[in-house]
Amino acid sequence: MELWYTEKQTPNVGITCKISRTLHTETTPFQELAVIDTLQFGRMLVLDGMVQTTVVDEFVYHEMITHVALNTHPNPEKVMVIGGGDGGAIREIVKNPRVKKAVLVEIDERVIEVSKQYLPEIAVALMGNPKVEVRVEDGIKHVQEHKGEYDIIIIDSTEPVGPAVELFSEDFYKNVYECLKDDGIMVAQTESPFYNRDIIKNSYARIGNFFPITKLYFATVPTYPSGVWTFTLGSKKYNPLTVPKEKIFVDPTNKYYNADVHFGAFMLPNFIAEIIK
Ligand code: SAM
Repeated sequence: MELWYTEKQTPNVGITCKISRTLHTETTPFQELAVIDTLQFGRMLVLDGMVQTTVVDEFVYHEMITHVALNTHPNPEKVMVIGGGDGGAIREIVKNPRVKKAVLVEIDERVIEVSKQYLPEIAVALMGNPKVEVRVEDGIKHVQEHKGEYDIIIIDSTEPVGPAVELFSEDFYKNVYECLKDDGIMVAQTESPFYNRDIIKNSYARIGNFFPITKLYFATVPTYPSGVWTFTLGSKKYNPLTVPKEKIFVDPTNKYYNADVHFGAFMLPNFIAEIIK
């Protein structure tokens, strides 16, 4: 018998993958969680019916949500990820030798535990890395209670439904601004330029209300809706486009991010540039 998984990405389009088996399903206090084994993309983490990450293409998203800001900041010692319970963003952050501490603030402990069990290559840094602190907390509350603490904050959230709705709000970005040091940088995943133009437009405007340097960049992630994904960077002081190229740190294990991609990711095709005009 053939088994297939479909995510309806919009009311009119979806992604369908042939699966060999379902490894795990549960309902946590926050969401429906599943891990399935797909033939094309390997193990896949699914929350509320939406693909979060897969073993085969996760590298693009996790390298791009982290290394651009890490290389824009001259001394990124203390970095926080909000969401990101699969651990992929934290794994990338601790590759950077200048990082002394990486804090994961994830609301749903079950995402962390299930990722450690079924996606160890992604969650590896959550399993005893001395630079990493894992906090099971609401990121919204955490940014309200920790002012001026972080060099970089990465918002690796689910889509703006359920517990993540607030993570796209103006109030939240204001608190992220205040949670950063005077020269801090934030990056948020801001969805697809084909299907979520309003989310991109609103997030860019809201982040731009607080951060004097606000930039949109993109990468290609096959299992995310439309395969093209955006990130919005807000910086108090440093411009990602004026970083000296020779100072960019590229870990030898990187599969996507390098010094050319650092700059190239900000070169927007017309249909994306139009969203933030
Ligand atoms: N890369 C993914 C994507 O774009 O689909 C996101 C991955 S990560 C699994 C998203 C995480 O954000 C989820 O585990 C979810 O529990 C967490 N999350 C949602 N709202 C949160 C909040 N208010 N505070 C902290 N974590 C939150």
